[in-house]
Amino acid sequence: MMKAIVIGTGAGGAAAARELANKGFEVLILEAGGEFKPFTRRISLVEPLRKIGLTRNEKNFSRVIPGYDSVRSSKDLILFRGIATGGSTILACGNMVRAEHGLKEIGLDLTKEFDELEELIKISTFPQDRWRPVTRNMFESAQERGLEPQPTPKSVDSLKCISCGLCEVGCSPGARWDSTRFVDDAVNKGAVLKTRSPVKKVIIEKERARGVIVGSGSASKLYEADVVVLAAGGIGTPQILKASGLPAEDRLWVDIVLTLGGVSKGANQLKEPPMVWYTKEEDYILSPYIDILSHFLHEPWKNVSIQDRVGLMVKLADEEQGTVYADGRVEKEITLHDRSRLDEAIKQAKQVMEGAGVSGPFVEGVHNGGHLGGTVPLKKEDVKDMKPSWIPDGLWVADLSLAPRSQGLPTILLTSALALRVARKISEVEN
Ligand SMILES: Cc1cc2nc3c(=O)[nH]c(=O)nc-3n(C[C@H](O)[C@H](O)[C@H](O)COP(=O)(O)OP(=O)(O)OC[C@H]3O[C@@H](n4cnc5c(N)ncnc54)[C@H](O)[C@@H]3O)c2cc1C
Repeated sequence: MMKAIVIGTGAGGAAAARELANKGFEVLILEAGGEFKPFTRRISLVEPLRKIGLTRNEKNFSRVIPGYDSVRSSKDLILFRGIATGGSTILACGNMVRAEHGLKEIGLDLTKEFDELEELIKISTFPQDRWRPVTRNMFESAQERGLEPQPTPKSVDSLKCISCGLCEVGCSPGARWDSTRFVDDAVNKGAVLKTRSPVKKVIIEKERARGVIVGSGSASKLYEADVVVLAAGGIGTPQILKASGLPAEDRLWVDIVLTLGGVSKGANQLKEPPMVWYTKEEDYILSPYIDILSHFLHEPWKNVSIQDRVGLMVKLADEEQGTVYADGRVEKEITLHDRSRLDEAIKQAKQVMEGAGVSGPFVEGVHNGGHLGGTVPLKKEDVKDMKPSWIPDGLWVADLSLAPRSQGLPTILLTSALALRVARKISEVEN
């Protein structure tokens, strides 16, 4: 039986591990984090700390919610990811959209994988009679402006959802799909999951991957395998590649999020899942979003209560120009082009909000990104093998790092579809 190591349990790793286990591989899954526990305390209990500014450091998120990791990539951009079983999918809003920017150009058609995943995950829109009035008003305002808003396809079971609005800090009722379900499927097929096992590097001998090193110093451990699948996410994968003496391209993209905050007394936007509808422009979307991060982190947001705050998010396909280093540091700026696109989108968001009766003061939130990819971008000539030719035999990448272009759209389906295609290629080539 062929032995495969899969590194990471997010949208990519979980889909790859599930498929390889189904195809008869002996799978060992190595996950840096532990089991994730959703945040269940009431937001109002944290309000006094917010008022005196004690929540204004993003690192406190990780302290309160272990597994919620942040990396500051420049003075004004924070990147978020999940370091736990389920990766970043445990922090997701449950939006499930086919994001395909840049795929046609390289001749990659993932329709079959998208179809299959949508069937497995069960996707539907959130009932409109449970949208908050302010959200419905903004939907109509966007319609009136010709922006053609659509209800967002979601992986949220509305019968289980309690409308707590806290998807991004974990779904306590288990209404929202995350990739732990694929991990469970893999384990049920015989895969072994080892948590708290941060992979440091891949061992390459005679131009072939032979295994990985987990941990450092005297506690480090070698795991050997026939195949190594890197799915440690947009930061983890290039970090491990560089630590293993391999290149990764300095083309990190993050889909920059910027929320415009306004005010509407008693709007209670938190009492619905985030992002129940969206409008789609060529390189960004607008979507209703209370933006808990800005509520807690951002000084300009401090004078409005969570009950009265209304947010409309811009999610922009940014320029692919960030760098991840072997020690996990990330450098990624908001470029002049990104800023000018954000300005235009924010202007549109303000018009939609005003048209819905939302009033000022309007304030921008924290620039952040959580769709991390692009450092192992597939090119036209790579699609046949589903990996760039510089990656040694026996080593594969199966996460969003493969996506050549930023999306400005939800990226879980894209990541899992890429990983599924890679896992099938592995089974064809290595078995
Ligand atoms: C707050 C937030 C909300 C989001 N909402 C949505 C949404 O609603 N819809 C959507 O489509 N997308 C959403 N996304 C984006 C989506 O979650 C990611 O694009 C997707 O999960 C990427 O998959 P991945 O496998 O590349 O990385 P991840 O899902 O991040 O998985 C990487 C995995 O590798 C592990 N890892 C990292 N380093 C190591 C190491 N050295 N050794 C071992 N393991 C390691 C991590 O713990 C993790 O399990 C959201 C992201 C965030 C941050």
